[in-house]
Amino acid sequence: MSMDDSKESYPGQIRLTLTGNRVPQEKVIHIPNLKKDRLGTFDFISWWERPKVQSAKVMVVGAGALGNEVLKNLALMGVGNIFVTDFDRIEAANLSRSVLFREEDNGKRKAEVAARAIKELNPNINVQFFHGDINNEFGLGIYRRMDVVIGCLDNREARLSVNKACYRVNKPWVDGAIQELLGLVRVFVPGKGACFDCTLNEIARQEMEARASCSILAKKNILSGKVPTTPTISSIIGAIQAQEALKLIHKDNERLQVQPGKMIHFNGFTNDMFISAYNENEDCESHWMYEEIIERKDVKAAVTTLSEILEIARSYAGADAELQLDTELILTFECDNCGTKTPVAKSWSVITPEEIRCPDCGMERQPELAHYITDTEEFLKNALSANFLSKTLQDIGIPPLHIVYARGSGGEAFLELTGDLETTLHFSDFADDPEVGDTRCQVL
Ligand SMILES: [Zn+2]
Ligand SMILES: [Zn+2]
Repeated sequence: MSMDDSKESYPGQIRLTLTGNRVPQEKVIHIPNLKKDRLGTFDFISWWERPKVQSAKVMVVGAGALGNEVLKNLALMGVGNIFVTDFDRIEAANLSRSVLFREEDNGKRKAEVAARAIKELNPNINVQFFHGDINNEFGLGIYRRMDVVIGCLDNREARLSVNKACYRVNKPWVDGAIQELLGLVRVFVPGKGACFDCTLNEIARQEMEARASCSILAKKNILSGKVPTTPTISSIIGAIQAQEALKLIHKDNERLQVQPGKMIHFNGFTNDMFISAYNENEDCESHWMYEEIIERKDVKAAVTTLSEILEIARSYAGADAELQLDTELILTFECDNCGTKTPVAKSWSVITPEEIRCPDCGMERQPELAHYITDTEEFLKNALSANFLSKTLQDIGIPPLHIVYARGSGGEAFLELTGDLETTLHFSDFADDPEVGDTRCQVL
């Protein structure tokens, strides 16, 4: 490496030329004030592009052991906009491998504590957290506005859900997995090699099917894997995940090689590290990328009714357009014991175990399911509800800023509930919290 400031030098800048590389690179270096500029030393990294890192939007799904390590690294590197999601609360056992959690956080929401902690770690970044079920309560429009999604998950169902969401809106995601001293990292880029679904073998599919065929109550209680791990393997794998995300943020730099559809495997028993490739499954069910997404600023989950959205859908997809649902809609519950049938009109995903039980006898009730919404007489009769179509999208469990899919004889339409954008995606949590420090994003 040699520094050459002979040409075109002007105050505060030098030109850095890398000579020892396959592809010579040149980068104008701003001489940072290392006393004031926390990210200054990164500017000496030949390929580092501060504006790309500072403007990046990265979502971390899961704020457990891996998530903590990933989030810590993203914050330290100054990744400008970080979205943290988790549905879980902190328990004592998490404290042994979660650098962002403290003793007094026991019982608090993981996503919130982690988001606040990284904001404290680097007040110049913008953060937002979501405490809830990302599989069902989280709009696709959020995924759509990310540069990279990082999965720090412990079960296949959640990975499959993130994989599908990312594929639909054409976003890369970085998966990490750990067990004892073993770990692996995989980058999935829609349309480039295998996706997560392609990697599932027959045994994995059978296990998932067995879980899916459980009763509706048991399904609600799918155990998240309690896999034994060490904080050291979380650090190693979380660091590789964050580094792969950093490479994805610097897209189009050919020195930074991301290898989608392959597995980086690290064996901490033997210290072997190797890469292997997956075969892409041509018939993979997850390979569905949404076409043109229509941003409807006039549509909000909590306000727009089903009849209104059906009307909008028909203006794009024809007079017979139906609203296709991602998850089953429970129209009614029937209690075999009491012989009663009650209207429900809610997505399966937002139903609580208490709601499944009959209020009279406490037995598990049977649902009548629908996969689409229309306004035919037959459909409304099945729904047992005359005012079914005056319910809002939110009433039936469609989350804010989601993208709803309509299909009819006139074609398909992908309608985003863009009216929810400002309230749903803001990256401004803890921005006004004096205890978290000066939070204005500094432009350097
Ligand atoms: Zn696939
Ligand atoms: Zn009953």
